[in-house]
This record gives sequence, structure tokens and C-alpha cells, in this order.
Amino acid sequence: MAVKKILTYGTPSLREPSKEVHKVSAKIKTLIQDMFDTMYMNNGVGLAAPQIGVNLRVFVIDCSTGDEPLKPLVFINPKIIKKSGATLSQEGCLSFPEAYTEVKRYKDVMVKALDRNGKPFVMEAKDGTLLARCIQHENDHLDGILFIDHTTNRFEADKVLAEHKLPPVEVENLLDEPELDEALQNGK
Ligand code: ZN
Repeated sequence: MAVKKILTYGTPSLREPSKEVHKVSAKIKTLIQDMFDTMYMNNGVGLAAPQIGVNLRVFVIDCSTGDEPLKPLVFINPKIIKKSGATLSQEGCLSFPEAYTEVKRYKDVMVKALDRNGKPFVMEAKDGTLLARCIQHENDHLDGILFIDHTTNRFEADKVLAEHKLPPVEVENLLDEPELDEALQNGK
């Protein structure tokens, strides 16, 4: 068991794209275990490897709640192969302690990845569920994208960040998402 230090917003490596995993080695399995230990210890629902300083394309998720049994999911070299609809979502991130703000997300996604044994799988998450949003959030980390880049209101986001003594929104990283804007307007 190894709980790692989570890098906070402002750390340059959080903005770096991560590299593909070539082999699901013992080292990768240890990394995955450390990621779960770190995520559970911090009461998170997802964690991406770059958040503990490892720029590899791996993230873990567990969306179980309350007394439900744990549902640990591992995604190695994930690719979102289908996305549609749009939804607004209050999100936070373990790299932004206590700071929550509204962001735009796709409602439905399909992701292809390798599991912890290196076996390929496809997963569909629909209706803007926590899992659907979480997959997008964690997948973004692997490309150096952070949830505030999807903010619906950057002034509101700046306020929240300042309240939590975090650096302001990085305007150059804000995403232009006409597809999501259109879907939101049409109520899809
Ligand atoms: Zn995050």
C-alpha cells in the first residue's frame, strides 16, 4: 500500500501529455495499486497517473457510493471512440482541493481501453452519469487537459479558484466546444 502525493493545479507536469503504456508490467500493476490507494484515501472517484507525477496513459475510477461494494475500474491507453449529447456538471478534482465548478461534458461516451491484465475492453456510459463524466474527466488528464478548461463561466471559476488559493483559469487553455454548446442549446 502506497498513498502518493497528489500534484495540485499549477504544477507544470499536469499540463503535459502522457505516454502510452507498452506493456502491462509489474511496475504498471504497482502504479495502479498506488493510484487506487491514493484515490480511496482521498475519497476521490477517479485518479489519473499524471496526478501522482507519472505521465503514463492510465486512470482509475470507482463510482460506487455509500455501502455499495467497491467497483474499481482500470483504463490503460484509453480512447474515447464515440461521444454525443451534452450535459452540465458540477465537478471537482483531487488536484484542485475543495474547488468545484460547472463544466460542459458529453452525455454519452464509449471508451476503448486495456484492463489491469492488458486485456482490451469497450465500455459505454450513458445519460451523463457520474461514470460518463468521470471517464471524460480522467481521460482529459492524459492529454494535459483539466476540468476548468471546460468551464461554463470562467469568472465564476476564477472566483472559486481564488477562494481555494489556487491559480486562476489559464485562458490560453480554455476549450472552444461548439458541438457541446449546440447540443446544450438544443437540449440534447
Ligand atoms: Zn481530475
